[in-house]
Amino acid sequence: MLNLSLLARHASSSSAKASSDIIVVGGGLTGNAIAASIGLNPILRDQKVVVVDSAKTKPTLLSNSSTYSNRVSAVSPASVGLFRDLGVWSRLEKYRVKRVNKLHVIESSSRAEITFDRPGNTEVAFIVENDAIVAVLADLLSTLPNITHKTAANVQSCQLPDSTNELASVTLADGESFSAQLVIGCDGFNSIVRRQSSSIDTTSWSYSQSAVVATLKVSADGSNDTAWQRFSPHGPIALLPLTSNLSSLVWTTSPDEAKRLCALTKDTFVDELNEALLTTAHQDSTVNQALFAMDSALSFLSSSLRPPSITPHILSLETDNRASFPLGLCHSQSYIAPRVALVGDAAHRVHPLAGQGVNMGWRDVLILTKVLEKALKSGADIGSVSSLRRYDSLAQQYNVPTMVAIDWLNRLYRTQSTPIVLARSIGLSTFNSLLPLKDLLVHLLSQSPKV
Ligand SMILES: Cc1cc2nc3c(=O)[nH]c(=O)nc-3n(C[C@H](O)[C@H](O)[C@H](O)COP(=O)(O)OP(=O)(O)OC[C@H]3O[C@@H](n4cnc5c(N)ncnc54)[C@H](O)[C@@H]3O)c2cc1C
Repeated sequence: MLNLSLLARHASSSSAKASSDIIVVGGGLTGNAIAASIGLNPILRDQKVVVVDSAKTKPTLLSNSSTYSNRVSAVSPASVGLFRDLGVWSRLEKYRVKRVNKLHVIESSSRAEITFDRPGNTEVAFIVENDAIVAVLADLLSTLPNITHKTAANVQSCQLPDSTNELASVTLADGESFSAQLVIGCDGFNSIVRRQSSSIDTTSWSYSQSAVVATLKVSADGSNDTAWQRFSPHGPIALLPLTSNLSSLVWTTSPDEAKRLCALTKDTFVDELNEALLTTAHQDSTVNQALFAMDSALSFLSSSLRPPSITPHILSLETDNRASFPLGLCHSQSYIAPRVALVGDAAHRVHPLAGQGVNMGWRDVLILTKVLEKALKSGADIGSVSSLRRYDSLAQQYNVPTMVAIDWLNRLYRTQSTPIVLARSIGLSTFNSLLPLKDLLVHLLSQSPKV
Protein backbone atom coordinates (compact mmCIF):
# COMPACT_ATOMS: atom_id res chain seq x y z
CA MET A 1 0.00 0.00 0.00
CA LEU A 2 1.24 3.51 -0.81
CA ASN A 3 2.33 5.55 2.20
CA LEU A 4 0.24 8.69 1.52
CA SER A 5 1.58 10.72 4.43
CA LEU A 6 5.14 10.08 3.22
CA LEU A 7 4.14 11.21 -0.27
CA ALA A 8 2.50 14.34 1.11
CA ARG A 9 5.57 15.14 3.19
CA HIS A 10 7.77 14.66 0.15
CA ALA A 11 5.56 16.91 -1.98
CA SER A 12 5.80 19.68 0.57
CA SER A 13 9.45 19.29 1.52
CA SER A 14 11.57 22.40 0.97
CA SER A 15 13.37 20.66 -1.91
CA ALA A 16 9.97 20.48 -3.67
CA LYS A 17 9.19 23.49 -5.85
CA ALA A 18 6.80 25.95 -4.25
CA SER A 19 3.86 27.02 -6.42
CA SER A 20 4.42 30.56 -5.13
CA ASP A 21 6.57 32.44 -2.64
CA ILE A 22 3.73 33.76 -0.51
CA ILE A 23 0.10 32.68 -0.09
CA VAL A 24 -2.27 35.27 1.38
CA VAL A 25 -5.38 33.59 2.81
CA GLY A 26 -8.24 36.11 2.78
CA GLY A 27 -8.62 38.92 0.26
CA GLY A 28 -10.48 41.37 2.49
CA LEU A 29 -9.45 44.71 3.99
CA THR A 30 -6.07 43.52 5.22
CA GLY A 31 -5.36 40.62 2.80
CA ASN A 32 -5.60 42.79 -0.31
CA ALA A 33 -3.57 45.49 1.45
CA ILE A 34 -0.63 43.23 2.36
CA ALA A 35 -0.62 41.69 -1.15
CA ALA A 36 -0.58 45.18 -2.72
CA SER A 37 2.10 46.37 -0.31
CA ILE A 38 4.33 43.40 -1.26
CA GLY A 39 3.54 43.75 -4.98
CA LEU A 40 4.58 47.42 -5.04
CA ASN A 41 7.62 47.14 -2.79
CA PRO A 42 10.85 47.51 -4.86
CA ILE A 43 12.57 44.69 -2.91
CA LEU A 44 9.59 42.32 -2.61
CA ARG A 45 7.81 42.83 -5.90
CA ASP A 46 9.43 39.82 -7.60
CA GLN A 47 7.86 37.51 -5.03
CA LYS A 48 5.10 35.36 -6.52
CA VAL A 49 2.01 35.95 -4.41
CA VAL A 50 -1.32 34.11 -4.53
CA VAL A 51 -4.30 35.68 -2.75
CA VAL A 52 -7.19 33.29 -2.11
CA ASP A 53 -10.54 34.55 -0.92
CA SER A 54 -13.72 32.59 -0.25
CA ALA A 55 -16.00 35.44 -1.44
CA LYS A 56 -17.72 34.47 -4.70
CA THR A 57 -16.88 37.70 -6.54
CA LYS A 58 -14.49 40.63 -6.19
CA PRO A 59 -16.33 43.74 -4.96
CA THR A 60 -16.56 46.56 -7.48
CA LEU A 61 -16.66 50.29 -6.83
CA LEU A 62 -20.31 51.27 -6.87
CA SER A 63 -21.49 54.34 -8.72
CA ASN A 64 -21.69 57.53 -6.68
CA SER A 65 -25.48 57.43 -6.85
CA SER A 66 -25.89 53.92 -5.49
CA THR A 67 -26.95 53.33 -1.90
CA TYR A 68 -24.36 53.10 0.83
CA SER A 69 -23.26 49.77 2.26
CA ASN A 70 -23.99 49.19 5.95
CA ARG A 71 -20.33 48.26 6.62
CA VAL A 72 -18.00 51.23 6.85
CA SER A 73 -14.74 51.92 8.66
CA ALA A 74 -13.35 54.97 10.39
CA VAL A 75 -9.95 55.10 8.68
CA SER A 76 -7.19 56.76 10.72
CA PRO A 77 -4.76 59.29 9.20
CA ALA A 78 -1.93 56.69 9.59
CA SER A 79 -3.92 54.19 7.49
CA VAL A 80 -4.57 56.89 4.89
CA GLY A 81 -0.76 57.16 4.70
CA LEU A 82 -0.64 53.47 3.72
CA PHE A 83 -3.31 53.98 1.02
CA ARG A 84 -1.46 57.03 -0.31
CA ASP A 85 1.74 54.94 -0.54
CA LEU A 86 -0.18 52.23 -2.39
CA GLY A 87 -1.51 54.90 -4.78
CA VAL A 88 -5.20 54.12 -4.14
CA TRP A 89 -6.22 56.99 -1.86
CA SER A 90 -6.81 59.51 -4.67
CA ARG A 91 -9.18 57.01 -6.33
CA LEU A 92 -11.03 56.43 -3.08
CA GLU A 93 -11.18 60.17 -2.38
CA LYS A 94 -12.87 60.77 -5.75
CA TYR A 95 -15.46 58.24 -4.68
CA ARG A 96 -17.22 58.75 -1.35
CA VAL A 97 -14.82 59.39 1.45
CA LYS A 98 -16.17 61.54 4.28
CA ARG A 99 -13.65 63.55 6.26
CA VAL A 100 -14.38 63.66 10.00
CA ASN A 101 -13.17 66.83 11.69
CA LYS A 102 -14.63 66.30 15.13
CA LEU A 103 -15.48 63.42 17.45
CA HIS A 104 -18.04 63.88 20.24
CA VAL A 105 -18.19 61.23 22.95
CA ILE A 106 -21.17 61.52 25.29
CA GLU A 107 -22.08 59.71 28.49
CA SER A 108 -25.71 58.66 28.94
CA SER A 109 -25.37 58.14 32.69
CA SER A 110 -24.32 61.76 33.30
CA ARG A 111 -23.85 65.00 31.35
CA ALA A 112 -20.13 64.33 30.86
CA GLU A 113 -18.78 64.52 27.32
CA ILE A 114 -15.57 64.99 25.40
CA THR A 115 -14.85 66.54 22.02
CA PHE A 116 -11.84 65.86 19.84
CA ASP A 117 -11.28 68.66 17.37
CA ARG A 118 -8.71 68.33 14.66
CA PRO A 119 -5.45 69.69 16.06
CA GLY A 120 -3.65 71.81 13.46
CA ASN A 121 -4.41 70.38 10.05
CA THR A 122 -4.92 66.77 11.16
CA GLU A 123 -8.26 65.10 10.48
CA VAL A 124 -9.70 62.87 13.19
CA ALA A 125 -10.56 60.13 10.65
CA PHE A 126 -12.19 59.37 7.30
CA ILE A 127 -15.30 57.23 6.89
CA VAL A 128 -15.12 54.85 3.93
CA GLU A 129 -17.20 51.83 2.90
CA ASN A 130 -15.33 48.54 3.46
CA ASP A 131 -16.31 47.25 0.00
CA ALA A 132 -14.85 50.36 -1.65
CA ILE A 133 -11.49 49.77 0.04
CA VAL A 134 -11.46 46.07 -0.88
CA ALA A 135 -12.46 46.97 -4.47
CA VAL A 136 -9.74 49.58 -5.13
CA LEU A 137 -7.12 47.24 -3.68
CA ALA A 138 -8.42 44.32 -5.80
CA ASP A 139 -8.22 46.52 -8.92
CA LEU A 140 -4.64 47.42 -7.98
CA LEU A 141 -3.73 43.73 -7.50
CA SER A 142 -4.98 42.93 -11.01
CA THR A 143 -2.30 45.31 -12.40
CA LEU A 144 0.60 43.77 -10.47
CA PRO A 145 2.43 41.13 -12.54
CA ASN A 146 3.39 38.72 -9.75
CA ILE A 147 0.07 38.66 -7.93
CA THR A 148 -2.68 36.14 -8.61
CA HIS A 149 -5.99 36.96 -6.95
CA LYS A 150 -8.47 34.10 -6.78
CA THR A 151 -12.08 34.48 -5.62
CA ALA A 152 -14.47 31.64 -4.72
CA ALA A 153 -11.34 30.02 -3.28
CA ASN A 154 -12.31 28.65 0.11
CA VAL A 155 -9.33 27.31 2.06
CA GLN A 156 -10.38 24.04 3.63
CA SER A 157 -7.10 22.98 5.20
CA CYS A 158 -3.60 24.26 5.79
CA GLN A 159 -0.51 22.10 6.08
CA LEU A 160 1.74 24.21 8.30
CA PRO A 161 5.09 22.62 9.17
CA ASP A 162 6.73 22.63 12.61
CA SER A 163 9.98 23.90 11.14
CA THR A 164 11.26 25.59 8.00
CA ASN A 165 12.57 22.26 6.68
CA GLU A 166 9.30 21.99 4.80
CA LEU A 167 7.12 24.36 2.80
CA ALA A 168 3.63 25.34 3.91
CA SER A 169 0.64 24.58 1.75
CA VAL A 170 -3.07 25.30 1.65
CA THR A 171 -5.82 23.24 0.05
CA LEU A 172 -9.02 24.72 -1.32
CA ALA A 173 -12.48 23.18 -1.10
CA ASP A 174 -12.25 22.22 -4.81
CA GLY A 175 -9.04 20.25 -4.12
CA GLU A 176 -6.58 22.73 -5.68
CA SER A 177 -3.53 23.28 -3.50
CA PHE A 178 -0.67 25.79 -3.30
CA SER A 179 2.64 25.64 -1.51
CA ALA A 180 4.85 28.53 -0.44
CA GLN A 181 7.60 29.73 1.85
CA LEU A 182 5.13 31.87 3.79
CA VAL A 183 1.38 31.77 4.42
CA ILE A 184 -0.06 35.10 5.57
CA GLY A 185 -3.36 34.56 7.40
CA CYS A 186 -5.68 37.51 6.73
CA ASP A 187 -8.82 35.42 7.01
CA GLY A 188 -10.58 37.26 9.81
CA PHE A 189 -11.34 36.46 13.43
CA ASN A 190 -12.27 32.84 12.74
CA SER A 191 -9.00 32.33 10.83
CA ILE A 192 -8.42 28.79 9.58
CA VAL A 193 -4.69 29.58 9.29
CA ARG A 194 -4.55 30.45 12.99
CA ARG A 195 -6.70 27.49 14.05
CA GLN A 196 -4.58 25.03 12.08
CA SER A 197 -1.27 26.36 13.33
CA SER A 198 -0.48 24.10 16.29
CA SER A 199 1.95 26.54 17.91
CA ILE A 200 -0.35 29.60 18.07
CA ASP A 201 -2.43 29.88 21.26
CA THR A 202 -5.24 32.38 21.59
CA THR A 203 -7.15 34.13 24.35
CA SER A 204 -10.70 35.00 23.39
CA TRP A 205 -14.09 35.86 24.79
CA SER A 206 -17.47 37.00 23.63
CA TYR A 207 -18.75 40.37 24.83
CA SER A 208 -22.34 39.05 24.79
CA GLN A 209 -22.99 42.12 22.69
CA SER A 210 -23.95 42.60 19.03
CA ALA A 211 -23.56 45.63 16.80
CA VAL A 212 -26.60 46.69 14.76
CA VAL A 213 -25.52 48.53 11.62
CA ALA A 214 -27.63 50.58 9.19
CA THR A 215 -27.51 53.65 6.94
CA LEU A 216 -29.48 56.61 8.27
CA LYS A 217 -30.91 59.84 6.89
CA VAL A 218 -30.08 62.52 9.44
CA SER A 219 -30.68 66.17 10.04
CA ALA A 220 -27.33 67.53 11.23
CA ASP A 221 -25.77 70.94 11.69
CA GLY A 222 -23.51 72.20 8.88
CA SER A 223 -21.84 69.62 6.68
CA ASN A 224 -22.30 66.70 9.12
CA ASP A 225 -18.55 66.27 9.65
CA THR A 226 -18.75 65.13 13.28
CA ALA A 227 -18.65 61.51 14.43
CA TRP A 228 -20.80 60.85 17.49
CA GLN A 229 -20.62 58.17 20.13
CA ARG A 230 -23.06 57.92 23.02
CA PHE A 231 -22.33 55.36 25.72
CA SER A 232 -25.61 53.76 26.78
CA PRO A 233 -25.90 51.11 29.53
CA HIS A 234 -25.97 48.30 26.90
CA GLY A 235 -23.05 49.64 24.87
CA PRO A 236 -22.04 52.58 22.68
CA ILE A 237 -24.14 53.99 19.85
CA ALA A 238 -22.01 55.51 17.08
CA LEU A 239 -23.08 57.76 14.21
CA LEU A 240 -20.42 58.00 11.50
CA PRO A 241 -21.03 60.70 8.89
CA LEU A 242 -21.20 59.66 5.22
CA THR A 243 -22.56 62.83 3.54
CA SER A 244 -24.18 66.06 4.69
CA ASN A 245 -27.41 64.13 5.36
CA LEU A 246 -26.42 60.47 5.73
CA SER A 247 -24.68 58.69 8.60
CA SER A 248 -23.75 55.10 9.30
CA LEU A 249 -24.97 53.53 12.54
CA VAL A 250 -23.14 51.11 14.85
CA TRP A 251 -25.52 50.42 17.75
CA THR A 252 -24.01 48.08 20.33
CA THR A 253 -26.47 46.22 22.52
CA SER A 254 -27.29 42.75 23.84
CA PRO A 255 -27.72 40.01 21.20
CA ASP A 256 -31.45 39.61 22.02
CA GLU A 257 -32.03 43.36 21.83
CA ALA A 258 -30.13 43.47 18.50
CA LYS A 259 -32.46 40.81 17.11
CA ARG A 260 -35.48 42.78 18.33
CA LEU A 261 -34.18 46.07 16.87
CA CYS A 262 -33.59 44.48 13.45
CA ALA A 263 -37.15 43.11 13.43
CA LEU A 264 -38.87 46.42 14.30
CA THR A 265 -40.72 48.37 11.63
CA LYS A 266 -38.49 51.06 10.10
CA ASP A 267 -40.36 53.92 11.80
CA THR A 268 -40.34 52.30 15.25
CA PHE A 269 -36.62 51.56 14.88
CA VAL A 270 -35.92 55.23 14.11
CA ASP A 271 -38.08 56.36 17.06
CA GLU A 272 -36.24 54.03 19.43
CA LEU A 273 -32.89 55.17 18.10
CA ASN A 274 -33.73 58.86 18.61
CA GLU A 275 -34.89 58.04 22.12
CA ALA A 276 -31.67 56.09 22.87
CA LEU A 277 -29.56 59.02 21.61
CA LEU A 278 -31.37 61.65 23.65
CA THR A 279 -32.75 60.03 26.78
CA THR A 280 -31.70 61.36 30.17
CA ALA A 281 -33.47 58.49 31.95
CA HIS A 282 -30.18 56.84 32.94
CA GLN A 283 -28.55 60.01 34.27
CA ASP A 284 -27.32 60.01 37.85
CA SER A 285 -28.23 63.31 39.57
CA THR A 286 -25.46 62.98 42.21
CA VAL A 287 -22.88 62.65 39.44
CA ASN A 288 -24.36 65.59 37.53
CA GLN A 289 -24.15 67.81 40.63
CA ALA A 290 -20.52 66.85 41.16
CA LEU A 291 -19.78 67.54 37.49
CA PHE A 292 -21.42 70.94 37.68
CA ALA A 293 -19.24 71.87 40.67
CA MET A 294 -16.14 70.59 38.91
CA ASP A 295 -16.98 72.34 35.63
CA SER A 296 -17.32 75.64 37.55
CA ALA A 297 -13.89 75.08 39.09
CA LEU A 298 -12.35 74.20 35.70
CA SER A 299 -14.06 76.97 33.78
CA PHE A 300 -10.82 79.00 33.85
CA LEU A 301 -9.26 76.25 31.65
CA SER A 302 -11.98 76.14 29.03
CA SER A 303 -15.57 77.05 28.41
CA SER A 304 -16.68 73.78 29.98
CA LEU A 305 -19.98 75.16 31.28
CA ARG A 306 -21.57 74.93 27.84
CA PRO A 307 -24.94 73.32 27.12
CA PRO A 308 -24.75 69.57 26.43
CA SER A 309 -24.12 68.61 22.79
CA ILE A 310 -27.05 67.19 20.85
CA THR A 311 -26.56 64.35 18.39
CA PRO A 312 -28.06 64.70 14.89
CA HIS A 313 -31.78 63.89 14.65
CA ILE A 314 -32.42 60.64 12.80
CA LEU A 315 -35.04 61.12 10.08
CA SER A 316 -35.31 57.62 8.59
CA LEU A 317 -33.45 54.56 7.38
CA GLU A 318 -31.94 55.31 3.95
CA THR A 319 -32.77 51.79 2.84
CA ASP A 320 -33.51 48.91 5.12
CA ASN A 321 -29.98 47.49 5.30
CA ARG A 322 -30.09 46.71 9.03
CA ALA A 323 -27.88 43.81 10.09
CA SER A 324 -26.22 42.72 13.30
CA PHE A 325 -22.78 41.30 14.08
CA PRO A 326 -21.62 39.49 17.25
CA LEU A 327 -18.75 41.17 19.12
CA GLY A 328 -15.82 39.56 20.87
CA LEU A 329 -12.14 39.78 21.65
CA CYS A 330 -9.48 37.44 20.32
CA HIS A 331 -5.77 37.80 20.96
CA SER A 332 -3.21 35.48 19.35
CA GLN A 333 -0.37 35.07 21.81
CA SER A 334 1.98 34.91 18.83
CA TYR A 335 1.36 36.40 15.38
CA ILE A 336 3.90 34.05 13.82
CA ALA A 337 4.84 30.38 13.53
CA PRO A 338 7.20 28.60 11.11
CA ARG A 339 6.05 29.74 7.62
CA VAL A 340 3.06 31.63 9.08
CA ALA A 341 2.28 35.27 9.83
CA LEU A 342 -1.14 36.45 11.00
CA VAL A 343 -2.44 39.91 10.05
CA GLY A 344 -5.57 41.83 11.03
CA ASP A 345 -8.50 40.16 12.79
CA ALA A 346 -6.84 36.75 12.35
CA ALA A 347 -4.32 38.00 14.93
CA HIS A 348 -6.41 40.41 17.01
CA ARG A 349 -10.15 41.06 17.19
CA VAL A 350 -11.34 44.04 19.21
CA HIS A 351 -14.60 45.76 20.11
CA PRO A 352 -15.51 48.36 17.43
CA LEU A 353 -16.13 51.14 19.98
CA ALA A 354 -12.82 52.87 19.24
CA GLY A 355 -12.83 52.26 15.46
CA GLN A 356 -9.35 50.73 15.71
CA GLY A 357 -9.78 47.08 14.55
CA VAL A 358 -8.81 47.29 10.92
CA ASN A 359 -6.52 50.27 11.52
CA MET A 360 -4.48 47.93 13.73
CA GLY A 361 -4.55 45.44 10.83
CA TRP A 362 -3.21 48.03 8.39
CA ARG A 363 -0.46 48.85 10.88
CA ASP A 364 0.42 45.12 10.79
CA VAL A 365 0.64 45.46 6.99
CA LEU A 366 3.15 48.31 7.26
CA ILE A 367 5.27 46.44 9.80
CA LEU A 368 5.20 43.05 8.04
CA THR A 369 6.15 44.60 4.69
CA LYS A 370 9.24 46.24 6.23
CA VAL A 371 10.19 43.03 8.07
CA LEU A 372 9.89 40.90 4.89
CA GLU A 373 11.87 43.52 2.97
CA LYS A 374 14.71 43.30 5.49
CA ALA A 375 14.65 39.48 5.43
CA LEU A 376 14.83 39.31 1.64
CA LYS A 377 17.57 41.96 1.45
CA SER A 378 19.72 39.89 3.80
CA GLY A 379 19.06 36.68 1.86
CA ALA A 380 17.13 35.07 4.74
CA ASP A 381 14.17 32.69 4.41
CA ILE A 382 11.09 34.96 4.61
CA GLY A 383 9.10 32.20 6.31
CA SER A 384 11.54 31.49 9.11
CA VAL A 385 10.67 32.39 12.67
CA SER A 386 13.92 34.33 13.00
CA SER A 387 12.91 36.53 10.02
CA LEU A 388 9.37 37.03 11.29
CA ARG A 389 10.13 37.54 14.99
CA ARG A 390 10.50 41.31 14.62
CA TYR A 391 7.04 41.50 13.06
CA ASP A 392 5.56 39.67 16.05
CA SER A 393 7.26 41.84 18.64
CA LEU A 394 6.66 45.20 16.91
CA ALA A 395 3.04 44.54 15.98
CA GLN A 396 2.21 43.23 19.45
CA GLN A 397 3.94 46.23 21.00
CA TYR A 398 1.46 48.48 19.18
CA ASN A 399 -1.61 46.26 19.37
CA VAL A 400 -1.67 44.81 22.88
CA PRO A 401 -1.92 48.15 24.76
CA THR A 402 -4.63 49.26 22.30
CA MET A 403 -6.58 46.03 22.84
CA VAL A 404 -6.32 46.34 26.62
CA ALA A 405 -7.45 49.99 26.53
CA ILE A 406 -10.46 49.19 24.30
CA ASP A 407 -11.50 46.21 26.44
CA TRP A 408 -11.13 48.31 29.59
CA LEU A 409 -13.22 51.16 28.11
CA ASN A 410 -16.00 48.76 27.17
CA ARG A 411 -16.08 47.31 30.70
CA LEU A 412 -15.89 50.74 32.28
CA TYR A 413 -18.85 52.06 30.32
CA ARG A 414 -21.07 49.03 30.96
CA THR A 415 -20.93 49.69 34.69
CA GLN A 416 -23.73 51.79 36.18
CA SER A 417 -22.68 52.05 39.86
CA THR A 418 -22.54 55.68 41.03
CA PRO A 419 -18.84 55.76 42.16
CA ILE A 420 -17.71 54.35 38.78
CA VAL A 421 -20.01 56.67 36.79
CA LEU A 422 -18.69 59.58 38.89
CA ALA A 423 -15.04 58.62 38.37
CA ARG A 424 -15.36 58.16 34.61
CA SER A 425 -17.49 61.32 34.19
CA ILE A 426 -14.94 63.42 36.09
CA GLY A 427 -12.15 61.80 34.07
CA LEU A 428 -13.94 62.59 30.78
CA SER A 429 -14.74 66.18 31.74
CA THR A 430 -11.23 66.87 33.04
CA PHE A 431 -9.63 65.38 29.94
CA ASN A 432 -12.02 67.44 27.83
CA SER A 433 -10.65 70.60 29.44
CA LEU A 434 -7.02 69.68 28.77
CA LEU A 435 -6.65 70.64 25.14
CA PRO A 436 -2.90 69.90 24.74
CA LEU A 437 -3.39 66.35 26.10
CA LYS A 438 -6.28 65.69 23.69
CA ASP A 439 -4.24 67.03 20.77
CA LEU A 440 -1.36 64.77 21.79
CA LEU A 441 -3.65 61.71 21.79
CA VAL A 442 -4.99 62.47 18.29
CA HIS A 443 -1.41 63.10 17.12
CA LEU A 444 -0.16 59.78 18.57
CA LEU A 445 -3.01 57.82 16.94
CA SER A 446 -2.16 59.33 13.56
CA GLN A 447 1.53 58.27 13.65
CA SER A 448 2.89 55.52 11.38
CA PRO A 449 4.92 52.77 13.07
CA LYS A 450 8.73 52.99 13.10
CA VAL A 451 10.28 49.70 11.96
C1 LIG B 1 -19.86 46.71 13.34
C2 LIG B 1 -18.38 46.86 13.17
C3 LIG B 1 -17.84 48.12 12.93
C4 LIG B 1 -16.47 48.28 12.78
N1 LIG B 1 -15.95 49.53 12.55
C5 LIG B 1 -14.61 49.69 12.46
C6 LIG B 1 -14.04 50.98 12.26
O1 LIG B 1 -14.76 51.97 12.16
N2 LIG B 1 -12.69 51.09 12.17
C7 LIG B 1 -11.87 50.00 12.31
O2 LIG B 1 -10.64 50.15 12.26
N3 LIG B 1 -12.38 48.76 12.46
C8 LIG B 1 -13.72 48.57 12.54
N4 LIG B 1 -14.23 47.32 12.71
C9 LIG B 1 -13.34 46.16 12.68
C10 LIG B 1 -13.04 45.74 11.23
O3 LIG B 1 -14.24 45.53 10.51
C11 LIG B 1 -12.19 44.49 11.21
O4 LIG B 1 -11.04 44.75 11.98
C12 LIG B 1 -11.78 44.14 9.78
O5 LIG B 1 -12.90 43.71 9.03
C13 LIG B 1 -10.72 43.07 9.76
O6 LIG B 1 -10.26 42.93 8.43
P1 LIG B 1 -9.55 41.58 7.99
O7 LIG B 1 -9.16 41.75 6.56
O8 LIG B 1 -8.46 41.23 8.95
O9 LIG B 1 -10.66 40.46 8.16
P2 LIG B 1 -12.08 40.34 7.45
O10 LIG B 1 -12.62 41.68 7.11
O11 LIG B 1 -12.89 39.45 8.31
O12 LIG B 1 -11.75 39.62 6.08
C14 LIG B 1 -11.43 38.25 6.04
C15 LIG B 1 -11.40 37.80 4.60
O13 LIG B 1 -10.97 36.44 4.58
C16 LIG B 1 -11.84 35.69 3.76
N5 LIG B 1 -11.85 34.32 4.31
C17 LIG B 1 -12.29 33.93 5.52
N6 LIG B 1 -12.13 32.60 5.66
C18 LIG B 1 -11.56 32.15 4.51
C19 LIG B 1 -11.17 30.88 4.03
N7 LIG B 1 -11.32 29.76 4.78
N8 LIG B 1 -10.64 30.79 2.80
C20 LIG B 1 -10.48 31.89 2.02
N9 LIG B 1 -10.86 33.12 2.42
C21 LIG B 1 -11.39 33.25 3.64
C22 LIG B 1 -13.20 36.40 3.83
O14 LIG B 1 -13.95 36.15 2.64
C23 LIG B 1 -12.77 37.87 3.93
O15 LIG B 1 -12.64 38.46 2.67
C24 LIG B 1 -15.60 47.14 12.86
C25 LIG B 1 -16.14 45.88 13.12
C26 LIG B 1 -17.52 45.73 13.28
C27 LIG B 1 -18.09 44.36 13.55
